[in-house]
Amino acid sequence: MEWEPVVGLEVHAELRTRSKMFCGCAVVDSTVAEPNTSTCPVCLGMPGSLPVINERAVDLALLVALALGCRVEPVSVFARKNYFYPDLPKGYQISQYELPLAVEGSLRIEAGGETRPIRVRRVHLEEDTGKLSHEEKPARSLVDLNRAGVPLLEIVSEPDMHSVEEVKAYATALRRLLCYLDVNSGDMEKGVIRFEANISLRPKGTSELGTRVEVKNLNSFRALTRSMEYELDRQAAVLEKGGSIRQETLGWDENAGRTYSQRSKEEAHDYRYFPEPDLPPLEASAERIARIRAALPELPEAVRERLVSKLGLNRYDAEVILAEKETVDYFDEVIRTSGAPARAAATWLGGDLFGLLKMRSIPLMGEGGKPALPAREFGLLVKMIADGKINGPTGKMLLAEMLDTGKSADALVAERGLQQIGDADTLRAAVRAVIAENPGQVDQYRNGKTTVIQWLLGQVMKTTGGRANPQTVRRLLEEELSDPAKG
Ligand code: ADP
Ligand code: MG
Ligand code: ZN
Repeated sequence: MEWEPVVGLEVHAELRTRSKMFCGCAVVDSTVAEPNTSTCPVCLGMPGSLPVINERAVDLALLVALALGCRVEPVSVFARKNYFYPDLPKGYQISQYELPLAVEGSLRIEAGGETRPIRVRRVHLEEDTGKLSHEEKPARSLVDLNRAGVPLLEIVSEPDMHSVEEVKAYATALRRLLCYLDVNSGDMEKGVIRFEANISLRPKGTSELGTRVEVKNLNSFRALTRSMEYELDRQAAVLEKGGSIRQETLGWDENAGRTYSQRSKEEAHDYRYFPEPDLPPLEASAERIARIRAALPELPEAVRERLVSKLGLNRYDAEVILAEKETVDYFDEVIRTSGAPARAAATWLGGDLFGLLKMRSIPLMGEGGKPALPAREFGLLVKMIADGKINGPTGKMLLAEMLDTGKSADALVAERGLQQIGDADTLRAAVRAVIAENPGQVDQYRNGKTTVIQWLLGQVMKTTGGRANPQTVRRLLEEELSDPAKG
């Protein structure tokens, strides 16, 4: 039997606000802050404390909902989701249930060489839980409530994905969208985006949904795709043997590379959802929605269109630049401040600059948004190459030196006299000299071994200290060699 994978994703993304969802505590980086220092009676769940809605979080949630083309509900309602766990001080999480903030959106993904929309079922606001860390010696678990109450957006897809590639494309596109909207740092290592994957199989060609499992707490793209591959194999094996899939909640063991059963799947009634009595319904007025819609920035699709159709980049270079919002911003600044041609700038950025950064293990944007190489300096180098002032190989060498020394291309060129020699008269002399000194290779060329020209070109580059314009040299070599009166 051939099985078709069916996957729906629930994505939890922290919203980048200054304060928490229902109290004034600062949102701190819980991978660095001293535990339990950003807490108050509200996020500690003290009896009698009352929550207040963070309007900024609502604005950011609406921004995401609109970017996903969702229908925003004029009135949504917060609800208590009751369960007991040590990272949840109140004994319930404030979430949204029957009436979420927004519904029925979609996100375009590219997979298998085609673009298609994945439907988004709902987008709702909730609060994050605290963080537990488990230690072995001594055996104990520690609770940090700095993260408790941080605004969290849950984005739930329809079960529209049918391959690992599509799931990866969706998760990547969603992360990228959140970064473009500046509502989330996209910093997966810090756990600011987490996935839950609902996975089932069905006989290929049928449309009914099979029984699904839910894999919880996937904190990286790698965990997401590996756990899915594992589950697809496991479920296919069970079904092949005539067995049936148990609907359950699974965890993912990163080290063992397998899923494990956490509990039989809870049903909604297990959570005893009810409307949060301490908060008013959330109203999203038409004016508010219009204001936020007007603030939508240029989104990835629009950037792609601009890069490809307006600036003439090839698809590959455009995708490399699009992948991260900060690369787009850097690229735009390169062009704006240096006057470098867009296509050359894109190729040098995505190819050579990224290559050098990777070799040195440094990011394009450092702490505080300071680039590894100022955009204008990079652009001026590209412009020198494009204008024929220096040749490509010299450009590559300079780029590395600029990164390492912080000097400008101009300064380095002047310091070393690296200006490209494009002047045909000067180069012709060099070409003639090389021809005169290498009669053996010249004979080979004239006897049909035309590839020798590459070697002769290399000799001219050598005698000119690498500064010759290679295209001009090649043309001159061909001219001189085809004339038997010469050499
Ligand atoms: P719950 O709230 O219990 O997790 P939902 O019915 O709201 O369940 O679905 C949650 C997610 O599971 C959604 O992303 C949905 O697309 C996905 N899903 C539902 N049924 C299936 C199925 N049979 N196979 C794969 N994914 C599914
Ligand atoms: Mg779920
Ligand atoms: Zn608080």
